[in-house]
Amino acid sequence: NHHSVRYEHEVIHYNPEIHIQSFQNTLVADVEQAMRENHFYLVYQPKVEMVSERMAGLEALLRWNHPIYGFLSPAVFIPILESADKMFDVTDWVIDRVCQQIASWEKSGEKIQVSVNIPGPYVTSPRLMSYLRESIDKYGFEPELLELEMTETSAVENIEGAIQAVHAFRNSGFSVALDDFGTGVSSLSYLKRLPVSTLKIDKSFVDGVPGSRKDSEIMKAIIALGNSLHLNIVIEGVETAQQVDYLYHIDGCKVLQGYFYAKPMVLSELEEWREKFISELTIR
Ligand code: C2E
Ligand code: MG
Ligand code: MG
Ligand code: MG
Repeated sequence: NHHSVRYEHEVIHYNPEIHIQSFQNTLVADVEQAMRENHFYLVYQPKVEMVSERMAGLEALLRWNHPIYGFLSPAVFIPILESADKMFDVTDWVIDRVCQQIASWEKSGEKIQVSVNIPGPYVTSPRLMSYLRESIDKYGFEPELLELEMTETSAVENIEGAIQAVHAFRNSGFSVALDDFGTGVSSLSYLKRLPVSTLKIDKSFVDGVPGSRKDSEIMKAIIALGNSLHLNIVIEGVETAQQVDYLYHIDGCKVLQGYFYAKPMVLSELEEWREKFISELTIR
């Protein structure tokens, strides 16, 4: 009867799964517009060399200011775009922007290394390698100024493909980092065969430093492992002075990234931070 039809309609209308579905569909449909009209934009988070307190490089992180939903976290929209096969296009957009920025800094006399997060399935795609080569030709800077970050988990999911891809990136001169290290089920034999330049130790380890003796020991062990394999080490997610003090006394622990030094920033904020950072932190 009429009443039950109406009732059914309301149930459907307020079904949260349908809201999620339409949210996801809207995002997927809006990707091209986001790239075209700068609803996507990049923020940059510095990596800092602890002892010299110099900026060792930047990580580019994607943001989306959506016309309906507002500011969205990459943790929300990246998985959605990945399932809809949109992340290859989006990653190319990020690479292009970052290369343009690296070239512009280089023109003004600064060599700044910037890293870009590459989704697992794209790492092993021939399309990525050719896009990277094109970008270097287009913008003309030393490829080691571009660092490619892939997560440990995605590398292990297709380890033979990842090993081949990383060899190709390194042969072309790009830097490669293994992101969120320590959270995947990596084995040491894989690590030996993956010719990455850098290990980024996941935030979850530094969270317990120095309070948790276990986390502190694990942190030391991972740093020692990285050093013995001649890898650069970046500690992600450093938030407190106590953490910095602890890490300062570990041999071979050089580069830190985290809110203690700086949050990810748009370019104008980054310039401000760099001026302030240089004058303040060198006093310590
Ligand atoms: P990630 O690559 O491991 O990036 C580090 C994340 O930790 C960033 O979150 C950063 O803002 C956050 N972070 C850095 N220092 C601290 C700290 O001291 N405390 C806390 N609480 N957080 C800190 P964000 O920007 O939200 O990105 C989350 C993840 O989304 C990234 O993890 C990365 O996996 C992914 N992502 C971001 N941008 C891109 C992109 O352009 N492409 C791809 N494929 N993934 C991206
Ligand atoms: Mg990263
Ligand atoms: Mg990470
Ligand atoms: Mg992460």
